[in-house]
Amino acid sequence: MVYYTVCSRKNYTAMTTHLIDQFNRNIDYIRLSVTDRCDFRCIYCMSEDMHFMPRKDLLTLEELQRLAEIFIQLGVKKIRITGGEPLVRKDIDQLFLNLGKNRDLKELTLTTNASQLKKKGQMLIDAGVKRINISLDSLDSKVFKKMTRTGHLDTILENIYFAIELGFKKIKLNVVLMRGINDHEIYNLVDFAIKNALDVSFIEEMPLGDVTHERKETFVSNDDLLKNLKNHYNLIKTSISTGGPANYWQIQNSQTHVGLISPHSHNFCESCNRVRISCKGELFLCLGQENKIELLPLLRRHLNDDKPIINSILDALKTKPKSHEFEIHKKSPAVIRFMSHTGG
Ligand code: SAM
Ligand code: SF4
Repeated sequence: MVYYTVCSRKNYTAMTTHLIDQFNRNIDYIRLSVTDRCDFRCIYCMSEDMHFMPRKDLLTLEELQRLAEIFIQLGVKKIRITGGEPLVRKDIDQLFLNLGKNRDLKELTLTTNASQLKKKGQMLIDAGVKRINISLDSLDSKVFKKMTRTGHLDTILENIYFAIELGFKKIKLNVVLMRGINDHEIYNLVDFAIKNALDVSFIEEMPLGDVTHERKETFVSNDDLLKNLKNHYNLIKTSISTGGPANYWQIQNSQTHVGLISPHSHNFCESCNRVRISCKGELFLCLGQENKIELLPLLRRHLNDDKPIINSILDALKTKPKSHEFEIHKKSPAVIRFMSHTGG
């Protein structure tokens, strides 16, 4: 069910701005991917030899902004800019600065590998970005290199310290644990977060895209991880909710929360409040399913009228699946597209 009434773009009045899907979930959060390109090639996210989309197939900056504004008018309160690596897109500053001015948007945030934070950090602060997620899978430069294929840990750490100094309200580290690769670094990574007053989330690897390793061999269950964390730290369960997949624990006597994002060991779809838009304007209703609609042709066909785009979004929402169907033990990926395509 979708409660929404709308007029034409020029005289646009939302009567009820809620996107409610058929399972009564209120969609107020979008993840907007602004590029599929990246300066890293993380082994769980990309293949070594990635082919990126031609630029003409990507949403332009104006299209990204228009789409974001349509969703805001439809009741979306939070937008996470993602990718690929969002900060490698050349013209990205203007999108942040423009969206940052929109008063109906409660939170503008991003997920980044931190490689460009020295260059872009101040711009993000100026745009009103308060919380950022930074992917950091290892504190060992050899492991970091192995996992990112092209990344240099020293530069990334320098950039993380720079971002801390800039004064973001909260920085959260994202870690994908891989058995036999970085799963011996759990406590180092949590201690690093505690020392620097950061949060840290552990994400179970999802079977997206055709990568070179066997995912079932590298899989680390967050249930096992939680047992280890409880043996090592005093964890206090919190009721913090982002309406999403993470459960959070606070580490006693610290400012650090540990989040466990567990698409396998705990299906999180019941409370799903989000949809994703790929950098080529595909609206994905679920990260782990193929349901999508193409918004780019509509944006280009209807330059001065948002109504057809809104109608498509409303129709698409009716098809939002109940849940993903990730199965780590299967040989082929659940979804062929890479995470960097959909936007993590
Ligand atoms: N480049 C940015 C970054 O790495 O933070 C943003 C895009 S990246 C696709 C977003 C998040 O998705 C990262 O935290 C990354 O660790 C995560 N990710 C990528 N592929 C994944 C996979 N197969 N399973 C679980 N998480 C994945
Ligand atoms: Fe790039 Fe992020 Fe994917 Fe790593 S996880 S390859 S940094 S998009």
